[in-house]
Amino acid sequence: MKIYVDNAATTKMSPAAIQAMLPCFDLIYGNPSSLHSVGQQAAEALYEARTQIAACLGCHPKEIIFTSGGSEADNQAILSAAKIGSRKGKKHILSTPIEHHAVLHALQKLQKEGFSVEYLPVNNLGEVTPEQVADAIRPDTALVTVMYANNEIGTILPIPEISRLCRERQVLFHTDAVQAVGHIPIHVKQQEIPLLSLSAHKFHGPKGTGVLYAQKGTPVASLIEGGGQEGGRRAGTENVPAILGMAAALKEACLHMEENSTKVTALQSRLMEGLLQIPHSALNGSPTHRLPGNVNICFEGIDGERLLLALDQQGICASAGSACTSSSADPSHVLRAIGLPRELARASLRISLCETNTAEEVETIIHAVTQTVASLRSCSPLWNDKVEGRKPFLLK
Ligand SMILES: *Cc1c(COP(=O)(O)O)cnc(C)c1O
Repeated sequence: MKIYVDNAATTKMSPAAIQAMLPCFDLIYGNPSSLHSVGQQAAEALYEARTQIAACLGCHPKEIIFTSGGSEADNQAILSAAKIGSRKGKKHILSTPIEHHAVLHALQKLQKEGFSVEYLPVNNLGEVTPEQVADAIRPDTALVTVMYANNEIGTILPIPEISRLCRERQVLFHTDAVQAVGHIPIHVKQQEIPLLSLSAHKFHGPKGTGVLYAQKGTPVASLIEGGGQEGGRRAGTENVPAILGMAAALKEACLHMEENSTKVTALQSRLMEGLLQIPHSALNGSPTHRLPGNVNICFEGIDGERLLLALDQQGICASAGSACTSSSADPSHVLRAIGLPRELARASLRISLCETNTAEEVETIIHAVTQTVASLRSCSPLWNDKVEGRKPFLLK
């Protein structure tokens, strides 16, 4: 049996999500835009899913725009805000260096088109403060985009405070909440968030579907031209099966959020405690403002990728950083932004738990990582240099 602890990369679909999708493949196959009864049956199912998702977020169904996932929702929020802002001569955008590539690469595209993008420095835990945002807002700021929780180090950012501040200063605010939705309480109305992205496959829903939430009165430009679906904000026949799966998964995640969070936090604490017993190791990210399932630790003197592959051979599926960068040789931009030297950024392991992981699995992981780190170190020339005093240890 595999031990799957890479839930920040993607999750296994829940039985409820699978059940919700199945009728779409043979019974509810109509196009929701068709006026006949088969189409209308799909339209009704879609409306019900929309209503369910809106209830989980605390918003109105019309404020939900279905997209092909978190990346599309991020791109749409950012490119739309830039387009609308630039019409009023606003070409300044504020963000952070620890955002997901879906945000960073959209921002880089805008920089090439003449936008001025400012990345607020994060502290060594991956946090930015509302005061930093307040000080950096300019009269020509078109958008502030700050993620709700980081996918690599699990740090939760002070989004309700940053959102409130942006509203007071009348600056549009977007948050990439892909890691947060379904895991920690979010109520877009109470928190007065204007734009928020989420993705179904991070909370046991299907891949390739997500939502851009846009508060009533927040104009949103379409990325994709075509039919008038999603109130003219996203053309294309809706992915009805995936959307129904997403709604079922989100409903379940929200209903069981407290008990899941309690369970996962207990597993997380034990895992951190066990792994930090390994000498010359340190936790990456915030010890307090942290997603329940995220554990990210660097083990001095090892190569994170090697550790990951050695663990895979023992049936443990984890990550050396974010899934999206694991094919590149560069160390994680997130770990570099929190000030880790290259050597330690490359020596990190991310384990992301979910509520179906068990206490036995956690003990197996602690044992396997402890053994594997020791064996990787024993055959590392760099480690030897450190042990024999020719190079300094970076961690206690
Ligand atoms: C996974 C992820 C995304 C991308 O979502 P997709 O649905 O895979 O496109 C964006 N932002 C964060 C923080 C993520 O973890």
